[in-house]
Amino acid sequence: MDTAEFRKRGREMVDYIADYLDNIEKRQVYPDVEPGYLRSLIPDEAPDEPETYEELAKDIERVIMPGVTHWNSPYFYAYFPAGNSYPSLLADMLSGAISCVGFSWAASPACTELETLMMDWLGKMLKLPEDFLAGTGGKGGGVIQGTASESSLVALLAARSRMVKQIKKDHPDWTELEILSKLVAYASDQAHSSVEKAGLIGGVNMKQVPSDSKFAVRGEALRKVIEEDKAAGLIPFFYCATLGTTPSCAFDCITEIGPICNAEGMWMHIDAAYAGSAFICPEFRPLLNGVEFADSFNFNPHKWLLVNFDCSALWVKKRADIIGAFKMDPLYLKHEHQDSGLVTDYRHWQIPLGRRFRSLKMWFVFRLYGLRGLQQHIRKQVALAKEFESLVQADERFEICAEVVLGLVCFRIKGSNELNETLLKKINSSRKIHLVPCQLADRFVLRMAVCGRSTESKHIREAWTHIVQLASVLLQQNHH
Ligand code: PLP
Repeated sequence: MDTAEFRKRGREMVDYIADYLDNIEKRQVYPDVEPGYLRSLIPDEAPDEPETYEELAKDIERVIMPGVTHWNSPYFYAYFPAGNSYPSLLADMLSGAISCVGFSWAASPACTELETLMMDWLGKMLKLPEDFLAGTGGKGGGVIQGTASESSLVALLAARSRMVKQIKKDHPDWTELEILSKLVAYASDQAHSSVEKAGLIGGVNMKQVPSDSKFAVRGEALRKVIEEDKAAGLIPFFYCATLGTTPSCAFDCITEIGPICNAEGMWMHIDAAYAGSAFICPEFRPLLNGVEFADSFNFNPHKWLLVNFDCSALWVKKRADIIGAFKMDPLYLKHEHQDSGLVTDYRHWQIPLGRRFRSLKMWFVFRLYGLRGLQQHIRKQVALAKEFESLVQADERFEICAEVVLGLVCFRIKGSNELNETLLKKINSSRKIHLVPCQLADRFVLRMAVCGRSTESKHIREAWTHIVQLASVLLQQNHH
């Protein structure tokens, strides 16, 4: 493909994307295909000779679209949202074109510097404590990771390294292996599975702390397990708090947990993967109170802040903690400014070496929406969730299962788990809308997350009417 053809095909692709997003609600939200569907649709091997673009373009609708789950459809209510917006898509194109690998300042100064500044912009939108910002000479700062899972892992590894160093000072005769075997990390029994995975990869004991009737961990619950573990000779070193749990969007009580972690010399990481975006609105910012006790804080702009995947924002109070855990400095990566104190080399802040120019997506989205536009997006989706909650509440056959704070509604038919499982199967097999379930205190619960950027009140009402129709048939059958 030469430049002239790229210009032509690029314009066609932009039109295709605009049409796709404009008409997304006409597509079935969840595909009908069976596992392995794609194998029979394309050859077993790459072509020997180049094909034409026309041949390829035809196959987008023939091969790809039949197997796509349309996350941006207004009929998609599963998981949590996947960010998407035109400014972000344009920035992603530019990032692809520059295709730098910005592991150090020298590897592409704009890639590093824009990232530091965008993380400060975003930190200011959230009113994060000053300690987390890079500013011009701060000790903290932000970094873009790929996912919340990586952020939790990076935080856990930094905490592990910090605690091992500390214990070695106090007990020079203990081996690293001995210390590691005594370390214990904690998270809520409602925490995302990626937190347990971080413990597994980090090779440390990760324990679940029981949440209360609102699915939140309180200070007392953490204090109890810490006391028991210390009495047994273990060394508590890490608590991963969740703000906006995956099953029900519950909030750990970090104003209670934070001071305990600080007093114990434990690292508190906050995983606010979904909910974090809402903290840009003053009315939701109180949910982040207690962040001042944290060592690190993370959320995914790629979930709810109109930035497309991937872009997971991680801030640390002390960059030295993270860099201390990961620093590797072979000759081929050294550069003339690295020890000047003026530059950030993000390769020391993450697991991989290579990194994309992801901050362009933030820059485009923040400038073209403005804080006000982003707040409007969050508020609109919370209002839609509240509207859905009212519809559920108005039907006495149903119940709300957790407080609706942001854009997630957990609900069920008053009845058995089996009845609710059947309802969810009927909803998903009818293909009109797409939902996933969760388990809350042994109950099977349906999760309705407002996701699509184009979701409107009429879609919410349509979805509810559809659910009620299916439920009515089911309840009648059950009755007979
Ligand atoms: N943490 C929480 C609270 C989540 O809800 C999710 C995903 O929904 C994750 C972590 C995992 O996110 P990621 O895919 O960015 O690792």
